[in-house]
Amino acid sequence: MMKILNYINGAWIEPKVKEYLDVANPATGEVLARTPLCSPADLETAARAAAEAYPAWRRIPAQDRVQYLFKLKFLMEEHLDEISRTITMECGKTYEESKAEMRRAIENVEVAGGIPMMMKGELAEDIAPGIDELMIRQPLGVCATICPFNFPGMIPFWYLPYAIACGNTYIIKPSEKVPMTMQVIFKLIHELGLPKGVINLVNGGKEAVDAILDHPVIRGITFVGSSAVAKYIYSRAAANGKRVQAQGGAKNPVLILPDADMEMATKIVADSAFGCAGQRCLAVSWAVTVGEARDEFTEMMCDAAQNRVVGYGLDAGVQMGPVISPSSKNRVEQIIGRAASEGATVCVDGRNTVIKGYEKGAFVRPTILANLKSDSEAARTEIFGPVLGLMHVNTVDDALSLVNGGQYGNQASLFTSSGSIARRFRYEADAGNIGINIGVAAPMAFFPFSGWRESFFGDLHGQGTDAVEFFTQKKVVVERWPKEWSRKF
Ligand code: NAD
Repeated sequence: MMKILNYINGAWIEPKVKEYLDVANPATGEVLARTPLCSPADLETAARAAAEAYPAWRRIPAQDRVQYLFKLKFLMEEHLDEISRTITMECGKTYEESKAEMRRAIENVEVAGGIPMMMKGELAEDIAPGIDELMIRQPLGVCATICPFNFPGMIPFWYLPYAIACGNTYIIKPSEKVPMTMQVIFKLIHELGLPKGVINLVNGGKEAVDAILDHPVIRGITFVGSSAVAKYIYSRAAANGKRVQAQGGAKNPVLILPDADMEMATKIVADSAFGCAGQRCLAVSWAVTVGEARDEFTEMMCDAAQNRVVGYGLDAGVQMGPVISPSSKNRVEQIIGRAASEGATVCVDGRNTVIKGYEKGAFVRPTILANLKSDSEAARTEIFGPVLGLMHVNTVDDALSLVNGGQYGNQASLFTSSGSIARRFRYEADAGNIGINIGVAAPMAFFPFSGWRESFFGDLHGQGTDAVEFFTQKKVVVERWPKEWSRKF
């Protein structure tokens, strides 16, 4: 069993808690660790350490602060295997998926290495005779991030490198379902020799989150998770006067036009819908075929679903692992059951999956639900499992109204060989990330991780220049230095 500790003020600390949550390997059922569900008192210790570290940290020149990130990048590369194995063990995705997740984390560390350039200000001379005006970006102070379970290694890095390179001090609260990855990463952070209190780790669930939302020294909060919790975080943190951004859930559509390269489209849509067992916020979860695309796409998708190799993510050749827990498996299977009773056709049924040698695993095989009604539960709810719903319409207009009729706006994709329809889709689709012949339109670290409508609450996003803007506040200075005041030399 891995011992889960907090990391506060440069030291590993065992929190004194009454409650723990078991962390089980979703493929084997083996209990790997127990997450301490920390109290506001533990958060208080971390917030105090971060607040004490802040004045000296912000005075270190940005070009010296980023040297710690360069060191971290190489440590993360060196320990990529260990981190990726840990992600697979606690989260269920395949080893290759875990490695890909960490590539994106490392990419964010690299991009934040450019903070000395990115956080520079602006200056205008002579806004009136002899008067200049300048804008400087200063850090906020103590900032915190609250993370979901599905990318335990990547999501903290949408924020952490930018926050500290901009001169803030920082607290991370990982998902209580997957606390192990951050234990491994914080061992590397410990090796950096950062001043004490610059980066802190507090484990726990709702109580720890509420303590973050209410703590007076915490100035900026980023959150990633489900929409209901995102909305709660956004309103409570904002009511407490904090800067906040909250990324929420998703229900991502893909349109398939008859002129699409069907082989490419089915392969990519299968990777999107079933990759990470459908537990990606950018997973395609419903496909709308237009006109003649229907039969060929349905047949090829069913083949792709049936042929996906499901098993333990550390075993060679496995293409899809389990969902996060038996209760998640149960929830996904119940949604499939209710969809069938509401009239959907279960073309490929992933329920009641048992994988030999992993009988306690939370496996759901890829599932295809055809003839999905647009107002049904399965068409509107985020399932967060390997389930793809299919709908059919006759025109692009109808397809676009379906896309824009949902409540979420994380991602919308289109498969076509028509440039003008692609342009129209990019222009009109009501979502923050758009894929054209792409199934997972995940923004690179130097673009904002966008998201609209119920998928995002706030203004500035994570990654790239948005993160720099989020983790800094602008100060404007107007100054006059009359000539007469200067001594004559
Ligand atoms: P979740 O909302 O259950 O939990 C996220 C975090 O919130 C955890 O740290 C948890 O401790 C905390 N939390 C949960 N309930 C809370 C409550 N009532 N009060 C205060 N804090 C609470 O999300 P999850 O199940 O861990 O992650 C999956 C969800 O995250 C999906 O909806 C997925 O779409 C979303 N997600 C979104 C993005 C994005 O970029 N938009 C990225 C990844 C995941």
